[in-house]
Amino acid sequence: MQGKIIKGIAGFYYIYAEDGNVYECKAKGIFRKDNFKPLVGDNAEISVLDQEAKEGSVTAILPRRNSLIRPAVANVDQAFVIFAMEDPKPNFLLLDRFLIMMEQQGIPAVICFNKKDLGEKEELERLYQTYTGCGYQVVLSSTLEGEGIDEIRQILRGKTTVVAGPSGVGKSSITNCMQGEIQMETGEISRKLKRGKHTTRHSQVIPVEKDTFLVDTPGFSSLYLTDMEEDELRNYFPEFLKYEPQCRFQGCRHIHEPDCGVKEALAEGKISQLRYEDYLALYEELKEKRRY
Ligand code: GDP
Ligand code: ZN
Repeated sequence: MQGKIIKGIAGFYYIYAEDGNVYECKAKGIFRKDNFKPLVGDNAEISVLDQEAKEGSVTAILPRRNSLIRPAVANVDQAFVIFAMEDPKPNFLLLDRFLIMMEQQGIPAVICFNKKDLGEKEELERLYQTYTGCGYQVVLSSTLEGEGIDEIRQILRGKTTVVAGPSGVGKSSITNCMQGEIQMETGEISRKLKRGKHTTRHSQVIPVEKDTFLVDTPGFSSLYLTDMEEDELRNYFPEFLKYEPQCRFQGCRHIHEPDCGVKEALAEGKISQLRYEDYLALYEELKEKRRY
């Protein structure tokens, strides 16, 4: 039988199988010898050892489409990052850090500003323009008023999506809105996963519909960019790329260089001041990090 690894805790893998059950499988030594580590999100072949107790063992991991390092998850199609308009107010530097991490790993990101009901109309419009202007899809939603929920369902359908965002923005509320028929099984899943409560939190896959999965990622409050030179950073701001051909110097950093297409676009309001300031802040951060 086939299934997906939805969680790995202390030597056990939890597999959400084709039959809708969650099987607890021991991580056998077979994977260790090649230095191969199954990841949450991996599709696996399992053999059921005890149907009653829902126990089995993983016999093979199916080929991966991709694997992310942060968070460590396999077979991810996209990321969905949620902030709130208020309570808590959005932290744009944190949002940009997340977008850069996804750009770096080649994963498309969709941005959601939830609690639309608490936002000013002008501010909502401004944020929508800013981030769609960078090439990102943006959803404005309110779980309270049921707005944007159908749009989110469309975005998530048939895909495996990493969901991220600070606490209190409405991640659980949105996830609950998405869960339809599978609600019952997820009740079973959370009972099975109780033992995980005592360990440090890892990523976890939440089945939403057939072929639709959400990946819950812990540890969003502080994201540090890694594995990156400061001079690479500009490549992860998609809105810069359009103006780069107008820079006089090849390899222009868009900071102190004369005749810079990006700075001209900034002066003309075609590039967001907010995003550019985050670029400068993160550039300095990466430079500092390298120094020590
Ligand atoms: P999480 O920590 O990101 O999972 O956030 P929750 O889903 O637990 O939501 C945090 C709080 O925000 C709860 O009290 C929700 O009722 C509230 N909330 C969620 N969505 C909305 C919304 O669209 N509008 C408003 N006004 N409150 C919301
Ligand atoms: Zn430039």
